[in-house]
Amino acid sequence: MNSSRPTVIVGVGFAGLFTALHLRYQQDLRSIVLIDPQERFIFKPMLYELLTSELSEDAVCPTYKELLQGSNVNFVQDKVVAIDLQEKRLKLASGSDYIYGYLVLTVGSIQGYLGTEGAQKNAFAFRTQENAIALESQLRKCLQRARQTDDETQRRSLLTFAIVGAGPTGVEMAATLADLLPNWYV
Ligand SMILES: Cc1cc2nc3c(=O)[nH]c(=O)nc-3n(C[C@H](O)[C@H](O)[C@H](O)COP(=O)(O)OP(=O)(O)OC[C@H]3O[C@@H](n4cnc5c(N)ncnc54)[C@H](O)[C@@H]3O)c2cc1C
Repeated sequence: MNSSRPTVIVGVGFAGLFTALHLRYQQDLRSIVLIDPQERFIFKPMLYELLTSELSEDAVCPTYKELLQGSNVNFVQDKVVAIDLQEKRLKLASGSDYIYGYLVLTVGSIQGYLGTEGAQKNAFAFRTQENAIALESQLRKCLQRARQTDDETQRRSLLTFAIVGAGPTGVEMAATLADLLPNWYV
């Protein structure tokens, strides 16, 4: 392996983080650099517990600094905006450049709606800490307005929540809301 230049991993979700922790044990690897624009890792399978306040922000979304403490893996909070494969050079949003020996791209995916009309415009995404906070706020607002209205039709509408997508995430969200909302609506 070329050990004079760092191995750079772009994107630090599960794939990037575990790649780094695995590569750490390779003897001939001089240094590993992780790059992500976010300050915090998001443990997505536990986002529901953030929504329900069963777990704290620090438990579900620990900072990379905290996670990588004592690991010899360096973290750079920045976004990669261009890659020059010939020169083995990355350009970051901050304006700085990074030369790499080996490059790992683990930038994940973006929210997809599969052409479902109106979904993107009207639905709440559920992938990030900000998404969980926005959803909680919207749910609480609906419950509050439902408590205050005398109009039965409007109350029913405010207390009806639709989930687009019934894969594992949608089903777990449905079960979470079924547990949560009756307790919030008191
Ligand atoms: C609510 C929810 C619950 C889930 N539960 C489960 C579960 O129980 N079990 C399971 O197996 N899976 C689950 N998943 C799916 C799982 O979380 C994903 O498959 C996994 O997070 C994908 O990891 P990743 O590293 O590929 O991408 P991501 O986690 O999306 O990470 C990609 C990273 O790349 C960074 N990035 C993007 N572009 C750039 C750039 N230009 N420069 C630098 N960095 C960049 C992003 O900021 C991000 O941090 C769940 C998903 C959700 C949303």
